[in-house]
Amino acid sequence: MTLKTVDDYRERVSKLRPKFFIGGKRVESLNDHPISRGVIEATAKIYELTMDPKYSEVMTAKSHLTGETISRSLHIHQNTDDLQRRLDMARMNSQKLGTCNYRCPGNEMLPSLAATTWEMDRDLGTDYHSRFNEYLKYAQKEDLVVSGSVTDTKGDRSKRPLDQDPDSYVHIVERKKDGVVVCGAKQHSTGAYVADENLILPGLSCQKGEEDYALAFVVPNGTEGITYIGQYNAYSVEREYAENLHYLGNPIYGQRETSLIVFDHVFVPWERVFMCGEIEYTQRFISRFAKTHRMNCGGACKVGFMDLIIGATELIAEYHGISRKSHIVQKITRMIQLNNTSLACAVSAAYMGKEDPPGSGVFMPDDAMSNLSKLNTNESFWEVLALAGDIAGGVAVTMPSEMDLENPEIGDYVSKYLKSAVPAKERMRIMRFLQNWVAGLHGVGTYQGAGPSQNEMLILYRVTDLEEKKRMAEELANAYY
Ligand SMILES: Cc1cc2nc3c(=O)[nH]c(=O)nc-3n(C[C@H](O)[C@H](O)[C@H](O)COP(=O)(O)OP(=O)(O)OC[C@H]3O[C@@H](n4cnc5c(N)ncnc54)[C@H](O)[C@@H]3O)c2cc1C
Repeated sequence: MTLKTVDDYRERVSKLRPKFFIGGKRVESLNDHPISRGVIEATAKIYELTMDPKYSEVMTAKSHLTGETISRSLHIHQNTDDLQRRLDMARMNSQKLGTCNYRCPGNEMLPSLAATTWEMDRDLGTDYHSRFNEYLKYAQKEDLVVSGSVTDTKGDRSKRPLDQDPDSYVHIVERKKDGVVVCGAKQHSTGAYVADENLILPGLSCQKGEEDYALAFVVPNGTEGITYIGQYNAYSVEREYAENLHYLGNPIYGQRETSLIVFDHVFVPWERVFMCGEIEYTQRFISRFAKTHRMNCGGACKVGFMDLIIGATELIAEYHGISRKSHIVQKITRMIQLNNTSLACAVSAAYMGKEDPPGSGVFMPDDAMSNLSKLNTNESFWEVLALAGDIAGGVAVTMPSEMDLENPEIGDYVSKYLKSAVPAKERMRIMRFLQNWVAGLHGVGTYQGAGPSQNEMLILYRVTDLEEKKRMAEELANAYY
């Protein structure tokens, strides 16, 4: 068995010294900063769940390379059952954390790499697949956290990389005998600064002349030339200066944390390069990653979040004595309907999944259903947030703090006027938890993470066989006895 314990992970992460900045300040110790600490705690919880026999069917798998028991976070789907377990894992992890589980984006790139490197070796006679398998065996053996970054900074979106600052997309600046040198930056990289390794895929469907941008590789966290610049917002300030984490909406795990990763002449040895110049395969890398990511991160993960939002909203309705009122029951039912629709799409994406490309041994979710899963969630998540805010009332955003409750001069007022069917403290805790969602970062995060709606619409249109639908309609319209 190659699974590592939570203590192994904590020990590894305590030794990481990435060049990492947050709010304009260099972070020397990941463990001591309240924001990176939250990311570590969330990742650590995943290691705990993986070792818990109760969850082993969901959290572990058998490596197709070694036959060993490994974390499902490092597994390549071998059949549709694996796809189903993967989405079960996404949902459960979200329910347990209320934020990102940080092993997800990298995990969802691995099957795409397995499939596309296999295809490149078959078609071009390269050796990317064997390199990738060697890397995967290493990652599985050490049970590494691998972050995944595909999103370039892109600058002016109407221009190709060579028509603007060439560093707007990650690319090769030098090819050497022993590897390549890389410049550019990836943005919104979830949890990358506490991961063991950073996996990078091309974010652009490359054209002729853009060979330097057709690049996939993995590097250890903190490799020379890499700088991580953490996201910073009102929730960051709240966490950074909180006297007590209990005052926050998600005390231990916090918000979903990302960073800009800058690559300033980073050397990558050949054994960690999985694509280098094969422009015609970039689209396949991206779309295979996207459909896996949209079934899990875009779909099932957000189902787990909506489970929590629905639970918190129902609690508030009970605290306010309105849970049996007909319009509240109706609105809660609508939230359940939206959530289950997202779940149904993710489940059918797994159920209808197939080997892609045939012969590779890698199973991928169904194109249409995985994109639909994300597209539905983009819309339903906002509606669920709106309904939660509707039911919770204005106090979801106007409430004083638990610090006021603890202040001897005003604590009695807060206790008296913030109570409902339950004491003020109980109500304020759940209300703060709900505030984290309805007035937090998750609305835009859910919409943009794994790609905004237009991306899914494009694919849905492209993969739908309209000719076949036309033919069916014509056949019936022209039928006669
Ligand atoms: C919380 C969070 C976590 C994330 N985690 C990760 C991660 O771990 N790894 C990772 O790689 N990425 C991650 N992402 C990135 C995510 O996939 C992107 O945010 C998403 O793909 C959109 O890219 P963008 O943010 O650059 O927005 P843009 O690409 O600028 O899109 C904004 C709008 O502009 C439109 N648009 C953009 N370009 C064009 C064009 N050429 N023509 C017409 N319309 C256009 C889009 O349709 C959209 O409506 C994360 C994002 C979030 C919010």
